[in-house]
Amino acid sequence: MARYTDSTCRLCRREGEKLFLKGERCYTNKCSIARRAYAPGQHGQQRKKMSEYGMQLREKQKARRFYGILERQFRKYFDMAVKRKGVTGENLLQILESRLDNVVYRLGLATSRPEARQLVRHGHFAVNGKKVNIPSVLLSPGDVITVRERFRKSDKLKAVVDIAGGKVIPEWLEFDSENLTGKVVKLPAREEIDLPIREHLIVELYSK
Ligand code: SF4
Repeated sequence: MARYTDSTCRLCRREGEKLFLKGERCYTNKCSIARRAYAPGQHGQQRKKMSEYGMQLREKQKARRFYGILERQFRKYFDMAVKRKGVTGENLLQILESRLDNVVYRLGLATSRPEARQLVRHGHFAVNGKKVNIPSVLLSPGDVITVRERFRKSDKLKAVVDIAGGKVIPEWLEFDSENLTGKVVKLPAREEIDLPIREHLIVELYSK
């Protein structure tokens, strides 16, 4: 399976904003955006006027990078979004939010989306009582996510919950911290997705 293996912080610097890909480090002054808030590479500090196409492309890349998705799969999500009823851009964000790795992150069971993806791959979560180790599984309203027994007792989970456990759970999810169980109540409305993505630019890009 293809995956991005270069520097993670470079992605944030390219997009010019924090994508929160490294967990705790993103909230400290070690964050590369805090230290070098310009694009990577030899010409990174030059100011460039961006074309309309450039803006659309950057918005799409930013969305992909927030969720850690490669181009092919992102395009598939877009095609799914087009086929759904409603506003395509909002549908796209709903699909991205309903990925299992994103839901694990949103529930405070991982400090970043890349970490959530790794924990899912390691088989630490069950959906509706069945072990699932595919981060891209799309969840639906009513689905229940549980932390599997072995991971419940691990130091890793304690460390993660210490860092990420205090965060606000979005209203479209429910979390029972006693039983380490989460539930998808509904799919999120656009205003419940707190990411600075201008999804209409992505729709324009793919509609050319
Ligand atoms: Fe991005 Fe986090 Fe790296 Fe900062 S520390 S540049 S927010 S991944």
